[in-house]
Amino acid sequence: MREIFVVVERSRDGLAESALELLTAARGLGEATVSAVLMGADVADLASEAAQWFDSVYVFEDPALEHPDGDLQARILAPLIDREKPLVTLLAHTNTGLELAPMLAVRAGTPLIADAMDIESSAAGDCEAGVECIRAVRSVFGGKVQARVSAIPAENGVMISVRPGAYTPPDMASGAGGAVHSETIPEGVAPRRQCVETVPPDPGAVDISQAEVLVAIGRGIEDEENLEDLHSLADAMGAEVACTRPVVDRKWLEKTRQVGTSGVTVKPRVYLALGISGSFQHLGGVKGDPFIAAINTDPAAPIFGVADVGIVGDILDLIPLLEEKIRERRG
Ligand SMILES: Cc1cc2nc3c(=O)[nH]c(=O)nc-3n(C[C@H](O)[C@H](O)[C@H](O)COP(=O)(O)OP(=O)(O)OC[C@H]3O[C@@H](n4cnc5c(N)ncnc54)[C@H](O)[C@@H]3O)c2cc1C
Repeated sequence: MREIFVVVERSRDGLAESALELLTAARGLGEATVSAVLMGADVADLASEAAQWFDSVYVFEDPALEHPDGDLQARILAPLIDREKPLVTLLAHTNTGLELAPMLAVRAGTPLIADAMDIESSAAGDCEAGVECIRAVRSVFGGKVQARVSAIPAENGVMISVRPGAYTPPDMASGAGGAVHSETIPEGVAPRRQCVETVPPDPGAVDISQAEVLVAIGRGIEDEENLEDLHSLADAMGAEVACTRPVVDRKWLEKTRQVGTSGVTVKPRVYLALGISGSFQHLGGVKGDPFIAAINTDPAAPIFGVADVGIVGDILDLIPLLEEKIRERRG
C-alpha cells in the first residue's frame, strides 16, 4: 500500500495539534498507510502517543535533536524518504516547517507546495491523463487570491506544508497501536549549528493563549494614545488585549500580545476584532472556532468573511460606546 508521511511536531503537553490536523489531511488523500515521522531528544512517550493515532511511527531519538534544526532534520529525513518513497510528505507550515520543508524538498528531489489550505489527490482536469497528481489550494498575493496548484509526484513523492488550522484534528485516536520503527541518524550527519540559549518567556508576561475572551486591535486604532480606551474596554469585558503585527511593529503593544502565524496561537471563546483587516497571517493564529465579532470601516474587509457578527463603523467612536453599554449591562 502507498504511504503518506506526516512530520510531527511536539507541544509542551505532547503531540502538537498540527500533527493531528495533518493526520486528517493525510486520511483525506485516500487509501494509504499514514506514518508519523518524529524527531527529538527524549521522545519515547511521544512515540507511544503518536502510535495511538498513526498507522506507524518512524522515530529518530537523539540528544542532537533536542532543538528543532531544519538543516539537521533535512539531512536526516531525506535518506528515509529516499528509502521508503512515500507518495506525499506533509509538514506543518509553522516556524519549524517553514525552515525544514524547502531544504528537505531539495534534498529529496520532490516538488514542494507550501502553505496549502486544502489538498486532494488525483483530481481530474488539470493533471496529465493517467498520471496521479496532488492538487492543493494556497493563498497568494498576501491572501487576496487563492491559487489551485497541482504537482506530479517525483520518485520520492510530493512535499506539502499545510497551514495550521486548515484541517480539524480527528475526534478520537484510533488506538490501533501502530508499529514504532526506531531509526538512527545516518552516519556522518551531525549538527552544523548550535542552539546557544533558549530564552524562557518572562513569567510576568501576559499569556493570551489561555484567555477566554480577547479584545484584539489592529492598525485601525490609528494612534498609540487611543489604546487607553481599548484597555478600558477590555477591563469592562474581563478580557485580555491582543493585537496584529503592525501594532507590535509600531511598539504600541508587546510582541507577546501578537496573534498570528508569527505570533501567538489563541483559542478564546470570544474574539473581538477591532480595526483588523483579517489577513491569513493574523487569522492563522485564531483557533478553536471562537465567536468572532468584528468592527471595521471597510465593508469589504476580509475579517467580515469569518466573523459571526460584524459592524461597519469607526472603532474610535464605538470602543467608548461599547464600554459604556457593557458596564451598564454588568451594573
Ligand atoms: C511572514 C509574515 C508573517 C506575519 N505574521 C503576522 C502575525 O503573526 N500576525 C499578524 O497580525 N500579522 C502578521 N503579518 C502581517 C499581515 O500580513 C498583515 O499585514 C497584518 O495582519 C495586518 O494587520 P491589520 O489588520 O492591523 O492592518 P491592516 O491590514 O492595515 O488593516 C487595518 C484595518 O483597519 C480598518 N480601519 C482603519 N481605520 C479604522 C477605524 N477607525 N475603525 C475601524 N476600522 C478601521 C481598515 O479598514 C483595515 O481593514 C505577517 C506578515 C508576513 C509577511
